[in-house]
This record gives sequence, structure tokens and C-alpha cells, in this order.
Amino acid sequence: MSFTVAIVGRPNVGKSTLFNRIIGKRISIVDDKPGVTRDRIYGQVEWRGKKFTLVDTGGIEPEGVDVMTSQVRRQVEFAIDSSDLILFLMDSKEGLLTTDQEVVALLRKSGKPIIPVVNKVDDYAVKPELYEFYKLGLGEPVFISAIHGSNVGDLLDQIVGFI
Ligand code: GDP
Ligand code: MG
Repeated sequence: MSFTVAIVGRPNVGKSTLFNRIIGKRISIVDDKPGVTRDRIYGQVEWRGKKFTLVDTGGIEPEGVDVMTSQVRRQVEFAIDSSDLILFLMDSKEGLLTTDQEVVALLRKSGKPIIPVVNKVDDYAVKPELYEFYKLGLGEPVFISAIHGSNVGDLLDQIVGFI
């Protein structure tokens, strides 16, 4: 099994959009309503001569955004067990929610490396509300827009730095 990178985060933060952006194809289903990623979806990525497997761990996501549901928990446990690196995705428009903090607590216990990623920063400017994401204590987050592709190259550089 090659180096495996899992995209983890609560429903609707843009996991499937980021997955498709990196893979370059519309493999994973994106929808406005939480609950549409059918299953774990895998793709092979090559960046700067390094290869890894990317996983959209969405699972079948339930309604209700700021709750630590059993589905989200299972997704996190899967990511911890079967990946070498975790991309922890959050939503700049929603801010840092309780569920985000709970997911991080689970991820941290694993000891696996985590890259914090803040998505939906569509018009990049240093806005005060983005500073709250530093409070997680995971280091400097990568601010991206999965829809526009901004900073996704920087994120890929960071990922292959772990391989
Ligand atoms: P998932 O549930 O985490 O897989 O999230 P999806 O990829 O299905 O995206 C949920 C919603 O967020 C969809 O309406 C996407 O179009 C939207 N979305 C994803 N990335 C971005 C982004 O960078 N900017 C904005 N404005 N919306 C985004
Ligand atoms: Mg999804």
C-alpha cells in the first residue's frame, strides 16, 4: 500500500470538492446538502515525482452539521487506522465549530501527522476571523479554496514533504 492521505472533516466543509480538485476528475459527488458522499473514495496522485493515495473519507454523511455523530466518528477512526497523514479540513465560512474541536481531539490521540486546512477562502485576504483557526494548536493552517484551486499547490507541496 502506498503512502495514504485521508481527507477528514465534518459534513459540507468541501472534502469531496478538494478530492476532485486534486485528482482532476469528478469522481466524488459534491452537493450542497450533507449526505452525498457514497463511500470511501480513493484516487492516485503524483506530485513532484512522489506518489500517494488520496482518500475522501466522507462516508454516508448524516444531516446536522455541528454534531459529533457516529458517522463522523467512524470516519475519523478509519482515517486514523488506515492513513499515514491526515488532512483535517475546516470551513472558513462556518468558523471553528465544536465538532471540529472534538474531531481534532480524536485525531491527536492517534499520533498521526495532521495538516490543518481551512477551505472556502475564496477571496484570500487576512481576515481577523481566520485567526481563530490557529487556536487549534496544530500549527499554521493552509488556507485554500477547493473551488478555485487557490493554494492547493502549496497544500500538495506540504503533503509530499511527509513522504
Ligand atoms: P463534503 O461534504 O465535505 O464532501 O463537502 P462537498 O465537497 O460536498 O461541498 C459542500 C459544499 O461546499 C458544496 O456546495 C461545494 O460547492 C461547497 N464548497 C466546496 N469547496 C468550496 C470552496 O472552496 N468555496 C466555496 N465557496 N464553496 C465550496
Ligand atoms: Mg463529500
